[in-house]
Amino acid sequence: MKDKLDDILKDFQNRVVSISSIQKLEDLKVEFLGKKGALTSVLKNLKNVAPEERGIVGKLANQIKVSINGEIVAKRAEIENNLVNEKIASEWLDVTLNSSKSQLGGIHPISKIQYEIEDIFMSLGFSVLDGPHIETDYYNFEALNIPADHPARDMQDTFYFDNGAILRTHTSAIQVRGMEKIKPPFKVIGPGRVFRVERTDASHEAAFHQLEGMVVGEGINVANLISTMKTLLREIFKKDVEVRLRPGFFPFVEPGFELDISCLICNGKGCSVCKQSGWVELMPCGMVHPNVLKHGGIDTEKYSGFAFGLGMDRLVMMRYKIEDIRHFHSGDLRFSGQFV
Ligand SMILES: [Zn+2]
Repeated sequence: MKDKLDDILKDFQNRVVSISSIQKLEDLKVEFLGKKGALTSVLKNLKNVAPEERGIVGKLANQIKVSINGEIVAKRAEIENNLVNEKIASEWLDVTLNSSKSQLGGIHPISKIQYEIEDIFMSLGFSVLDGPHIETDYYNFEALNIPADHPARDMQDTFYFDNGAILRTHTSAIQVRGMEKIKPPFKVIGPGRVFRVERTDASHEAAFHQLEGMVVGEGINVANLISTMKTLLREIFKKDVEVRLRPGFFPFVEPGFELDISCLICNGKGCSVCKQSGWVELMPCGMVHPNVLKHGGIDTEKYSGFAFGLGMDRLVMMRYKIEDIRHFHSGDLRFSGQFV
């Protein structure tokens, strides 16, 4: 019986050496120490052992059980340790390797120009205002001296919501909101996206960008308007740009002008953007109509002002020589990636 116990221990020790997984170790434990295990069956058969040897065999069997258990615990620790080491070895990181290039986003050329123009105006003492895209009829039309029967209110030009609200058709809507908050004298700009029902082509989009400007004070006149516009264009294009002023009719200014600049894409020779004319309409402008000032709560006996709307998309097209306005909303990374 003693020999049999020694054999069990040797057998266990021979086999435990080659075990490398926790699962196999568990199986081995069951095989030796489980209910039907080798050692257990020896202990069960103790009753058949001669009474005088029973104590010795029992004691020895328990010692073997303790040492098997001890070896299992040690082996388990060894396996777990190996697993951790393997993991560390396989997951190490070489921090000296070049990282894969991640694609960084960039600023859209229109936003870029907008920020630049905001900086120019702020350096000239202007404040920057904002307003909602969804506007009321009052702020977009009525307060800007655009009566109910004016063609600009035609369904073909304006996106209407069922409840009568509209998508603002120009940033001029920001003017009235501004006048309600700020008292003259003031110089403000309101940049933003505007919306019109348009057939899109190389120079027209249904959503585009304007920058509204307004100066109100005592004795403000057309000369102030022209000099401000020239300063602005020189700052934007970093050179003197050829401009022309044509009379223009806009209900919210009187007198009104259309400021054109010489087409910088074709240098005035004629192309798809300037419709072969060599000139690009850039800024409607003029002296603010007294009715508009009155809607803003401004004393027209004392104050006058000028206003202008800058077509930002055209400006960006001129600046970067972009031949088609539809690139702006194309989402084509080959296009937008050029401005990062
Ligand atoms: Zn042109």
